[in-house]
Amino acid sequence: MSTLNMDYHWLPFTNNKEFKANPQLIVRAEGIHYYDQQQRKILDACSGLFTTPAGHCRPEITEAVSKQLATLDFTPHFLRANPASFELAERIAELTPENLDRIFFVNSGSEAIETAIKIAYAFFAARGDGGKQRLVSRERAYHGVNFGGVALSGMVKNRDIYGAGLPGVAHMRHTWLAENSNTLGEGEHGIELADDLLRMIQLHGAQSIAACFVEPIAGSTGVLVPPKGYLQRLRQLCDEHDILLVFDEVITGFGRTGANFAADSFDVTPDIITMAKAITNGAQPMGAVAVRTDIYDTVIEAAPGVAPEFFHGYTWSCHPAACAAALATLNIYRDESLFERARALSPLLLDAVANLAELDIINDVRGYGMLAGFDLAPCEQPGRRGAQLQLDLFNAGLHLKTTGDAGIIAPAFVTTPQQIEQMFEILTKVLKRY
Ligand code: PMP
Repeated sequence: MSTLNMDYHWLPFTNNKEFKANPQLIVRAEGIHYYDQQQRKILDACSGLFTTPAGHCRPEITEAVSKQLATLDFTPHFLRANPASFELAERIAELTPENLDRIFFVNSGSEAIETAIKIAYAFFAARGDGGKQRLVSRERAYHGVNFGGVALSGMVKNRDIYGAGLPGVAHMRHTWLAENSNTLGEGEHGIELADDLLRMIQLHGAQSIAACFVEPIAGSTGVLVPPKGYLQRLRQLCDEHDILLVFDEVITGFGRTGANFAADSFDVTPDIITMAKAITNGAQPMGAVAVRTDIYDTVIEAAPGVAPEFFHGYTWSCHPAACAAALATLNIYRDESLFERARALSPLLLDAVANLAELDIINDVRGYGMLAGFDLAPCEQPGRRGAQLQLDLFNAGLHLKTTGDAGIIAPAFVTTPQQIEQMFEILTKVLKRY
């Protein structure tokens, strides 16, 4: 085992001092297992970070990326396109809800959010409604770490030192309600929370509001499943008041809810969908924004001259290696019917998480599809117990994400029923020590 020099690297979203005292390194992955430096096998209960539903190190993806890099490694997309991104756009448009079939490529979830904000502005500017610039989002939302996303986000720690960020963002209440505690699936209570959007409209005027951003299921803040009828009500209000509804499906996209997108599962079609994570099964950085056809048409048609219609894009947008990884990933999802498999496995996951509620340390359990969350009973220092839990679980052979004192479980869709049981055996055993 080589020793690691810890002096040069600043790790993201990490307590670096604690990490140095207790480094957790992964050196290899295969299927639904990680391996650390001692070749200890660790069950991955989080699909990496919601990224890897088809299991780690799929040879089909590795080969596709390698072949692509040997043939064409890079094109400057602002001038010269590559065929793989056209093929991929078509494949993604086959999966997105009807009409959301213009696909803009980026490199992460955060970039997808910034792009969606700009598309909303560009659309209303092209239509001659440039005054529509306010945005509405929600408490306990996570929309990435760039300034637009931070302003939309409702996670206090992610926002507090960055000032107002993007001005003109109003937050609706989050959808966690005590009345819905220990409910798997959509809660019975809380549809009226959607009327917070109506209050924003009454306060600011619909003529000033461009878009309403929500994660259909808030993922990173502990899996907050919307109450029954809530998303439908948001859709209705957006329609009535000419506001774009944006679903941030960075976590829920590509089968996590048992359908192509959460939009399908909840039967609510937004105007824009942001996606990333599972798009390449985690093998390459990539994100995308799916946009309603007429939004694209409006922006394109309004632009005069030969300059770009939309002054936005990244050097690595449409990167050939990422496109190759995504195409190989979508083939695996299709050929192995992995979204159907996610739907079939879901009851097992939700039953297992429901059993956790019997433990004294557990305050609430929630879940939908292949995504589940639980809250630990509060302790004196918020977040301390959650941080300790994820470390204890790692030492016990389980990779699981915690946010504050909430735990999040999101197994790969290739996980077997026995492996799900094994995950919960480890989790329950460790939780009983608390
Ligand atoms: N939106 C949502 C809903 C997310 O869950 C995340 C990442 N957890 C992001 C945006 C940001 O994605 P990235 O980390 O790829 O920038």
